[in-house]
Amino acid sequence: MTRPRAGPIGRVRVLSTGTVAIRPEQIGPTRKPVLWWLLTSTEWTAPKPVNVFVVEHREGLVLFDTGQDRASVTDPGYFPSGPAGLIYSRIAKPRMDTGDTLPARLAELGHDTGDVRRVVLSHLHHDHIGGLPHLGHAQIHAARAELDSLARPFPRARGLLPDRIDLPGLQWKPIDFAPIDDPGAAPFTTGLDLYGDGSILLLPTPGHTPGSTSMLVRRPGRRPLLMVGDLTFDAARLAAGIPTGTGDKRRSARTAANVAALRARLPGLTVLAAHDPDAAALLEQAEQPYRD
Ligand SMILES: [Zn+2]
Repeated sequence: MTRPRAGPIGRVRVLSTGTVAIRPEQIGPTRKPVLWWLLTSTEWTAPKPVNVFVVEHREGLVLFDTGQDRASVTDPGYFPSGPAGLIYSRIAKPRMDTGDTLPARLAELGHDTGDVRRVVLSHLHHDHIGGLPHLGHAQIHAARAELDSLARPFPRARGLLPDRIDLPGLQWKPIDFAPIDDPGAAPFTTGLDLYGDGSILLLPTPGHTPGSTSMLVRRPGRRPLLMVGDLTFDAARLAAGIPTGTGDKRRSARTAANVAALRARLPGLTVLAAHDPDAAALLEQAEQPYRD
């Protein structure tokens, strides 16, 4: 018999909406400028997961990211054409079968898409927003800075597809990070406590994109979790201080230093990245009882 767990968080699980292969240069480190490796790279990585984290909170289901859209592999008009389209075809090779959609994968975990109450987006790249068409009933949280970047000129050239993000009927709740008095989250001094109970804290982790956001999940008797989106492509590389090949390098380095300092304060911290092949195993380990 399992011991009842105190606190508002139940199980935390992960699903993957198909896979994506990317350029080794994107994982980093690389000295080549982004445009250079994007246009010249001849290699793809092994297929990586496109993770969505599913958090059972007393108030309802919370998703961190929504994965990719099957239309991205079936609809030739999903990505832009022309020079911007070239970027999409060069940067990633998505794969998705019919059973890989967000609703299908949630159903495998025993959940209906209608159970989802809140969605937190790490950022707005297409492989993180693909489930939005199914989530019109939920509150969608994304950092104000990320939503602002969508409104700036040439979003498609910056990896953002406005007509796939700004869908009619979605309930957007921009995240405005505000000062927090939470020693357990130091060195972060701003954040957003999603339910006001300290169990789910959103933290600003800019670098990969201007409004990249991470989600710290804390529950008694188990390891704390930090979902980081694309801050890194695997937790081990982040811990070793290896930078990725995209985004704003200086901001990413500052964010990586903040995460390292958080990890030093929370030794059990499990870092879960969106495309980390080890994320599922790391999460399974983190679901075991833990005493810090
Ligand atoms: Zn991604």
